[in-house]
Amino acid sequence: MKNGSKLIILVLNLMLLSCMEGDVFYTKQSVKVLSTGYEPMYTTTWQDAIKDVCTGRFEIVENHPKLVIGTVSGHLPMPVVVRFRRGVFLRAIKVPPKLRKPNRKNIFERDEGICQYCSRKVTYGKSTIDHILPKSRGGKDTWMNLVLCCAPCNSKKGSKTPREASMSLLRIPREMH
Ligand SMILES: [Zn+2]
Repeated sequence: MKNGSKLIILVLNLMLLSCMEGDVFYTKQSVKVLSTGYEPMYTTTWQDAIKDVCTGRFEIVENHPKLVIGTVSGHLPMPVVVRFRRGVFLRAIKVPPKLRKPNRKNIFERDEGICQYCSRKVTYGKSTIDHILPKSRGGKDTWMNLVLCCAPCNSKKGSKTPREASMSLLRIPREMH
């Protein structure tokens, strides 16, 4: 191939991927990418967006009012928002799920309605929540520091640690997702 034809091909390629407004060329114009469910996901370069529009992965949702893409066969509108045509949902991407809060309802569920000191079954209405390390001594409201407890055990333990109250836990508390 002669040098002249190489140059023409190079120019054609550049033409194909040039972004312009009037006679002004731009190389940086970002495009917003939406999930299939129209939720904003990320931004990409217009060159990458166009490639994915050509492969059918993206469809154009919104074009720029002024900017166009120069091609050998004329101008194309410049996309500013594109969307995954199918199969990409934000909800499916969003991991990990949030940890559940260690509230009374969730603690009751985790400990299966059983007092973690005397292993007696308690009803939800009569159950209490015990801070293993008492609140008054810096114990926090965390999954690892809260257990389900019957009222008699709770008053027996008071503001002592299990060791001080000579009480032992049925099992080591765990976090619940
Ligand atoms: Zn008990």
